[in-house]
Amino acid sequence: MSNLLQIHEPGMTPAPHEQEAGAAVGIDLGTTNSVVAIALDGAAEVLTDAAGHTLLPSVVAYGEDGGVEVGHAARAALASRPDQVISSVKRLMGRGADEVKRLAGTLPHALAPASAGGMLRLQVGARAISPVEVSAEILTALRQRAEAALQGRAVSRAVITVPAYFDDAARTATKDAARLAGLEVLRLVNEPTAAALAYGLDHGAEGLYAVYDLGGGTFDVSLLTMEKGVFQVLATGGDAALGGDDIDHAVAERFLAERALQGESAVSSGAAKQALLAARAAKEYLSDHETGDWTLEIDGRASRHSLSRAQLEELARPLVGRSLAICRAVIDEAGLTPEAIRGVVLVGGSTRMPLVRAGVAALFGRPPLSDINPDEVVAVGAARQAEALTVGSDTLLLDVTPLSLGLETMGGIVEKVIPRNTPIPVALAQEFTTYQDGQTAMAIHVLQGEREMVDQCRSLARFELRGIPPMTAGAARIRVGFCVDADGLLTVSAQETTTGTLQQVAVKPSYGLSEEEMAAILQASMLHAREDMETRLHAEAVVEARRAALAVRAALAADGDLLSPSERRTIDQALAGLDEACATGGREAVSDAAQALDAASQSFAERRMDRGIRQALAGQAVERLSGALGLAE
Ligand code: AMP
Repeated sequence: MSNLLQIHEPGMTPAPHEQEAGAAVGIDLGTTNSVVAIALDGAAEVLTDAAGHTLLPSVVAYGEDGGVEVGHAARAALASRPDQVISSVKRLMGRGADEVKRLAGTLPHALAPASAGGMLRLQVGARAISPVEVSAEILTALRQRAEAALQGRAVSRAVITVPAYFDDAARTATKDAARLAGLEVLRLVNEPTAAALAYGLDHGAEGLYAVYDLGGGTFDVSLLTMEKGVFQVLATGGDAALGGDDIDHAVAERFLAERALQGESAVSSGAAKQALLAARAAKEYLSDHETGDWTLEIDGRASRHSLSRAQLEELARPLVGRSLAICRAVIDEAGLTPEAIRGVVLVGGSTRMPLVRAGVAALFGRPPLSDINPDEVVAVGAARQAEALTVGSDTLLLDVTPLSLGLETMGGIVEKVIPRNTPIPVALAQEFTTYQDGQTAMAIHVLQGEREMVDQCRSLARFELRGIPPMTAGAARIRVGFCVDADGLLTVSAQETTTGTLQQVAVKPSYGLSEEEMAAILQASMLHAREDMETRLHAEAVVEARRAALAVRAALAADGDLLSPSERRTIDQALAGLDEACATGGREAVSDAAQALDAASQSFAERRMDRGIRQALAGQAVERLSGALGLAE
């Protein structure tokens, strides 16, 4: 009979309706702009609206009549009715109401009272709207754009990208938004990973890659390792207040200073806005031209300004230099050198500047990858991943373990062996030992989930390691290995290392869990974290106490004659007290009872030791034995 137990979870075999399901797209859900793309036979196409726009501003405007506008129209409404327009909602995803309240003064939006569940909500006119609902509007607009571009074909599934630093709450919020928008999330992929996928780096050599992302308002750099077709984000860094906007400011200041020299000194907020617009136009123009002229018209009075690329670069150099310094610091902190990096991908509109490209090339000692439009590269990678996950192409299978995998240990405690979000394939092992003298079998119970106790996690498999040679408690070395292959198949092996006794079990984890179940599990683990820790400490105290009681009982059986009847009674009472505390008491009662037993049996333990030494010494040369026992001479 085979020891291999295979558990087939529902949902592992391709569903028969797979072919009929709607199209699967890739979505870059950005802070300022969002993009949707689709890949067919490996070729990705960015989908546009009727006017030919590829970028959808991530802005949502709510009308008095309940109507909602998303994108360019909403952005245009920002100036006329700002209190009904929400922008940059991505910054609020997954944030709790309490957390954001502290930022209230600095937020562009008014906060509404939190929901009953503590969820953050924004005040929009008379309505209170959560960031998840705002994101859902953006995702709905992208889905509708894609459906129109695909001649009415339904779009029901998506790979959505998120920043590498997004925590669980923000990721769950993103998934919830997709669900509200009628999209099944095939996977959330880290933005830098998507950028690397767009360039097909998954087909290239294994090694280290960097993603340099300089947008309008933020800078991010990520280091990725690619190993056996799986990307892992090794390190990230950035500055949430560094981007193309800062360069615009530097240019605008120069224009206004020139204007003052030309005798036009009025600097109103309107003037600053005009100057910024001209500065941005100049900056973008100079990415493709050596020099240009601009006219600033403020309050009906015009001033003329010429700017060369060299002059622009002088203004921008300190800002670009800051981004490069951050790259150097991240590489340094990861214990690497720029030469170790095999390729650099550019993301974000500001990477169109020749100064940025030259700076990145100089730092990494190689020209960066820049063929794909830096505004679209993340969506393109997401689209390629969506195709790989649905149609199955030769693109890599990129995955992580969605929930932790672990083992039951004494006291019903779960010891996590592979933490959730570990990229697969992965193999990890931990050593365990026996609990009782002479124990020859060990039950292995494999579990999945984030909670501390067995009954709160999902049981995946049970098996038994037999044939452990009888040894004293704690002497056996049992190595339990968890191996998850690229298809998500988990194999658990247990081996007693002194004898090589081996048992194995293959388990198919996680795919049977619906997203809802997963979200519920994750949420429960957050809500119960403190309570769980208390339960775990209690269970550990009980295990420890029972172990001590077992040892005392074994000693009484062997050497009970060393005790007077009254001494024996004291120990028996302490044992009974401990049994009682383990069965019904709290953590403190258990540890008090364990201490009482320890005190009651102290002199008994000393007498046993004396007897043991006397027996050992009987008839032997004292010098030889004291050496063997490690006693002082
Ligand atoms: P993103 O946040 O990625 O959409 O990037 C927006 C930033 O990219 C803004 O600061 C733009 O001015 C800048 N940008 C867009 N196109 C160019 C260009 N051709 N040259 C320089 N900067 C650009």
